[in-house]
Amino acid sequence: MLNLIIFGPPGAGKGTQSEGLIKQYNLKHISTGDLFRWHTKNDTELGQKVKEIMNNGNLVSDDITIAMLKEEVEKNTDVNGFLFDGFPRTVAQAEALDGLMESMDTAIHGVIELSVSEEVVRNRIAKRKALENRPDDDEDKLNKRIAEYFDKTVHVLPFYKEQDRLKTVNGVGNIDDIFTEITSIVDSL
Ligand code: AMP
Repeated sequence: MLNLIIFGPPGAGKGTQSEGLIKQYNLKHISTGDLFRWHTKNDTELGQKVKEIMNNGNLVSDDITIAMLKEEVEKNTDVNGFLFDGFPRTVAQAEALDGLMESMDTAIHGVIELSVSEEVVRNRIAKRKALENRPDDDEDKLNKRIAEYFDKTVHVLPFYKEQDRLKTVNGVGNIDDIFTEITSIVDSL
């Protein structure tokens, strides 16, 4: 199996690069943000629980997030590998993910960090907001999500860096060039 994590702030280009990666390496894409949005849209029990938390730009609890992620992984055992997107966002989630991979006799092989400054991210999201209509993308909430990333989520990175699994790519530039750089890293894993 080939299991990767794509990491970066909202608006870093994770969605675009993920699309290319899942095709190139035939991976199952698991985005916890997309899964939570599916639940809120379909008004499931889980969706009702997390709706307000998401709308305020806060992180859903580790317990809820890990349980949902585990269920999704276990539904898809017959795959070439996984591309995790938006997960893990805490060290507890990172540790749970390692445990889950180990229980499947596999591992997280690499973490691709798309490095983009806070300013670039804010500009990009302002543009995206004009195109899509994500309820969690209005100004206050957006600030909260970005702050959440730069204050909290980034603390997951040293966890992977210490184990030499972190690969940082400059997320500013031509989309195809960034993709080429990512694939050369993945090919060397
Ligand atoms: P995203 O599209 O990845 O930015 O996720 C949208 C929202 O879903 C986040 O702002 C959080 O409220 C929630 N969420 C997604 N992934 C996680 C996670 N790994 N841990 C906690 N909350 C999450």
